[in-house]
Amino acid sequence: MTAALIDSHCHLDAPELAGDLEQLVARSRAVGVGRWVVPAVSAATFAGTRDMARRFGAWPAYGLHPLYEAEHRAEHLDELARWLRDESPVAVGEIGLDGFVATLDMQRQIDFFEVQLKLARDFDLPVIVHIRRSQDLVLKYLRKWRVQGGIAHAFNGSRQQADEFVRLGFVLGFGGAMTYSGSQRIRRLAAELPMEAIVLETDAPDIAPAWLAGPPPARNEPAELPRIAAVLAELRGMTLAEVAAASNANVARVLRLPQDVPDCPHTCDAGS
Ligand SMILES: [Zn+2]
Repeated sequence: MTAALIDSHCHLDAPELAGDLEQLVARSRAVGVGRWVVPAVSAATFAGTRDMARRFGAWPAYGLHPLYEAEHRAEHLDELARWLRDESPVAVGEIGLDGFVATLDMQRQIDFFEVQLKLARDFDLPVIVHIRRSQDLVLKYLRKWRVQGGIAHAFNGSRQQADEFVRLGFVLGFGGAMTYSGSQRIRRLAAELPMEAIVLETDAPDIAPAWLAGPPPARNEPAELPRIAAVLAELRGMTLAEVAAASNANVARVLRLPQDVPDCPHTCDAGS
């Protein structure tokens, strides 16, 4: 692969990856995955996400993730606003709604989600959304707040819902879930949606691809992305280079990155 493939969703700052992060990033670069979009998950992680992004040349996003709803406080939204103003991230994220984990307070999730959508609008930033058993609810608030678009990460909805996200300016993230032969709906969407609507992601350390399936499920990492991309290429009857180039271009378009994405930015201090 010539140009570096972008992992459009990867938690490089996750504690599960901290032990061997240097080697993990080296493995990622060695297989051509040279850029990563890294969304923070709570106010407590903003500084760590920024420092990690500077160190490896990743693109940070800042947001309050719905799974950490119990940790979030009203003042964290003010803190987020300061980070969006002062640090110019590529997006507000990871934000969204999770209807799968029953212990989460949905109304509280919605309250944080709405304020963050408003912040995205105020700062003219795209959003990176987590949508689990909440497709229609997320769409409802996106229609209400009309942000400029972004990435619907780990997409797992219907074709109709996919089309609605696209209409609202979103691309859909496909990753490890697509590699399981039983994931028929996701695989059909990956095969049939316009390529302009698809971006590749690992969601490392989560959503391990089929070849790393447990139990216990193995830790996912960005070096798996070329093999995940190869599954997408096969499903669509395209070449690996074609899906990689298209995914990169789609990420660059929705996150308004430089179209000619360099392998390693000036901020990258690899080797020093
Ligand atoms: Zn995530």
